[in-house]
Amino acid sequence: MSPSARPSRHRRYVQVLCSYSCNTGTLKRTPTVNLTDPVFRGYHYGRKKHDDDLEAMLERCRAAGVKSMIITGGSLHESKEALELARQHDFYATVGCHPTRSTQFDQFTGGPEAYLQALDELIAANLKGKGRVVAVGECGLDYDRTHFAPPDVQQRHFRSQLALAKKYHLPLFLHSRSAHADFVKILREEGFGENGGRNVGANGGVVHSFTGTVQEAIEYMDMGFHVGVNGCSLKTVENLTAVAAIRPDKIMFETDAPWCSLTSTHASHAHLNSLPPNLRSLYFPQATKPEAFVYGKPVKGRNEPTAIGGVAWVVHKLNEGVPFEKVTEKAWKNTVELFGLDELV
Ligand SMILES: [Zn+2]
Repeated sequence: MSPSARPSRHRRYVQVLCSYSCNTGTLKRTPTVNLTDPVFRGYHYGRKKHDDDLEAMLERCRAAGVKSMIITGGSLHESKEALELARQHDFYATVGCHPTRSTQFDQFTGGPEAYLQALDELIAANLKGKGRVVAVGECGLDYDRTHFAPPDVQQRHFRSQLALAKKYHLPLFLHSRSAHADFVKILREEGFGENGGRNVGANGGVVHSFTGTVQEAIEYMDMGFHVGVNGCSLKTVENLTAVAAIRPDKIMFETDAPWCSLTSTHASHAHLNSLPPNLRSLYFPQATKPEAFVYGKPVKGRNEPTAIGGVAWVVHKLNEGVPFEKVTEKAWKNTVELFGLDELV
């Protein structure tokens, strides 16, 4: 890496990886944490197209300033996987159950109480050290995909997981899709209506992959929550307006890799034109087609965590006059503080 390409101390990121796409209509066939997504092992739509290149991808992430990652658990099983991966790579994990998986509570041997108890025990056993749990989630409501779990089931098990955040004083990693009114209602009823639930022993949280309105962003912030922005948060002009309304002290960046790429058809595209070449090569390295795979190069169609810098750049362009490094540094500090990642500083 040439000195000019070396990421500045002030362009550092903590990446958030979802357990699976929160933004596509279908569940992936292999519902596993993103880092173990088959696409990072060379499999595209079930067919082996190239060699495993997870390590090369992680190296690109480091070059792009990604200092660590939070791997989210989408179910009890995935939370265990997320913790294992986090331990292997010295990252962090979340423990919880995604709304689209919430029928797992009822199907679990011993019932919903036993499932919640298992999540509880997993948290209790992993509160300290390398690869530790730093948030409860991802949990919330997803009314775009009620075919996986009806609203009443989602609501019940969203509510029950909030108790874990209070018990362990952990922040929440929250998912809300087409469910804003019920989402904030439940949070308010459970004591999270102000100061991110800190008055009832919890510790705030982030509403990740935000695609809501300006009013919704303001409501989350007023309740004391952070708002997480990725490529899917920057698709339309309305999206950009809402993201521009997020205050610097409440913003966080993510990518949702390998999904949620910033693409040329998105409203964000115009803002990426001004990305300097040295940063472009770090955040969006030249990719090859899966068939023409070259080890060390990204693969077309697969979003990578390096793109977090592109997300930050778009947000920088939406906040005219604020230097890029100020934008990235603020989001970094927000993330480190909320999740207590003190050893990264
Ligand atoms: Zn999500």
